[in-house]
Amino acid sequence: MVFIRFWGCPLACSWCDEPLHKDPSARRDLPLETLLEQVDSIGAGISSVLLTGGEPLAVEQLSLLIAELKKRGKWLAMESSGVGYDIPEGLDWLTISPKKALAEEVMTKADELKFIVGPSLSTAQKQEINHWAAIHPNVWLQPRADNNKPNLQANAKCLQLVLASQGRLNLSVQLHKYLNIP
Ligand code: SF4
Repeated sequence: MVFIRFWGCPLACSWCDEPLHKDPSARRDLPLETLLEQVDSIGAGISSVLLTGGEPLAVEQLSLLIAELKKRGKWLAMESSGVGYDIPEGLDWLTISPKKALAEEVMTKADELKFIVGPSLSTAQKQEINHWAAIHPNVWLQPRADNNKPNLQANAKCLQLVLASQGRLNLSVQLHKYLNIP
């Protein structure tokens, strides 16, 4: 899969591990044509592309980028917090990872929902997860990492919730953090 990571996000989650937030000097401003050329060269023979961030929804010309990638026959996934902008047409897979309450119509557009879970949950977080676990077929809990390192208490909390959910919740683990892959 070709991974396109956009810089910037309207939110400021304290645990955010988006590498360009930590080192803005790593950001490169690419015109759309240059980005597509890079996808064409790096992604030759690779059929899948993931748009992530930061927040891809905040990217100018996102719909144009999606149209160009679809013209190239790419299977296109996007991960988003769902905040602030309309979800574009043309995606093959949409992951919404809500960081604040979202309109029901945004949540139901998602092929999967991914909740980031710390060592403890507020009552409101529990209610939201339970609500979506009851009505959405694909709900994942991901233990929150702190300082880019696995948080064992968060892991334990996720596991407890998943095991108690009778199959309604799934566990998503960021393997690269265990394998020390940046
Ligand atoms: S929504 Fe995601 S990219 Fe934005 S600040 Fe929060 S964790 Fe970082």
